[in-house]
Amino acid sequence: MQLRLLEVTLSKWGYQVLSARDGEMAWQLLQQEEGPILAILDWMMPGYSGPQLSQLIRDQSSKLYTYIILLTARKDKESIIEGMDAGADDYLGKPYILDELAARIRAGKRILHLQEELVKAQEALREEAMRDPLTHLWNRRTIFNRLEAEMKASKSTGKPVGVILADLDHFKQINDTRGHLFGDHVLLETVKAMQSAMRPTDSIGRFGGEEFLMVVPGCGFDETVRAAERIRSAVESMQIRRGHESIPVTISLGCTASIPTRSDSLEMLLRTSDEALYESKREGRNRVSALPVDLYAASLQGIDWEIRQ
Ligand code: GH3
Ligand code: MG
Ligand code: MG
Repeated sequence: MQLRLLEVTLSKWGYQVLSARDGEMAWQLLQQEEGPILAILDWMMPGYSGPQLSQLIRDQSSKLYTYIILLTARKDKESIIEGMDAGADDYLGKPYILDELAARIRAGKRILHLQEELVKAQEALREEAMRDPLTHLWNRRTIFNRLEAEMKASKSTGKPVGVILADLDHFKQINDTRGHLFGDHVLLETVKAMQSAMRPTDSIGRFGGEEFLMVVPGCGFDETVRAAERIRSAVESMQIRRGHESIPVTISLGCTASIPTRSDSLEMLLRTSDEALYESKREGRNRVSALPVDLYAASLQGIDWEIRQ
């Protein structure tokens, strides 16, 4: 009868209520991913007692915090200490008046709200730590992790992964003649243009100052070359104005693709696309060069990489 009364009252107060007739059923409900975040537990219950259940909830570290209010007819201090030590946040002696219960639930809600804010702030910080502050693209470490994850996935799907490195052409000149701030503006506009030519499943990160690394999952060699060409063309055709002047901006790109049946290392993919990028620079810039990993690996045989550098 008491359970039913609480159910009706709490629903009337606007809460979404899940009720359990014993400790075990309550434990089942509380373990669910979208389970209750505030629990009102009777001290005496079949299955688990209120303090036992509180202890179980506290031992479960993966879920968000559950606020626990114990209902108890025991008024002695030892019992209250036992219940709170088991993990309860608050207790209410029976019989209780509904107004007091309402106030204690409101106090619980304030704590839960604070927790929610804290989790949100933590997530925002974690996300921020993965981003480059200027362009807001993935930072070097994160884009490496992305590439690593895509290479791993490609082993099981059998699909290749394309890698593209892009570098702004003669960017130093833009900085030198028009100032660093304007250079930043050009960098941001170039990022926007590159992104406009990418698919939602592709990733882009800031590899270095004015160099960007793009990961194009599912694309083999030829498809990656086509993707790189689209990106190059998008940058070439963007309009950056300063007063009446139009500032031409271009990028050089180097690309390659993994072959899932071979186990190319991340380092090898990067070295190969870097070599291709240098080829684009040597050949006059504003172009795409592509180099297959195996061809590059073969060309390296017998040549010490450190010496080549
Ligand atoms: P190349 O075509 O051979 O790549 O010539 P480049 O001038 O682009 O190459 P270089 O490596 O000599 O110069 C890169 C310049 O990029 C130098 C550096 O000042 C600038 N740079 C790097 N990061 C930033 C940034 O965040 N903002 C601005 N404004 N400039 C940057
Ligand atoms: Mg450059
Ligand atoms: Mg550079």
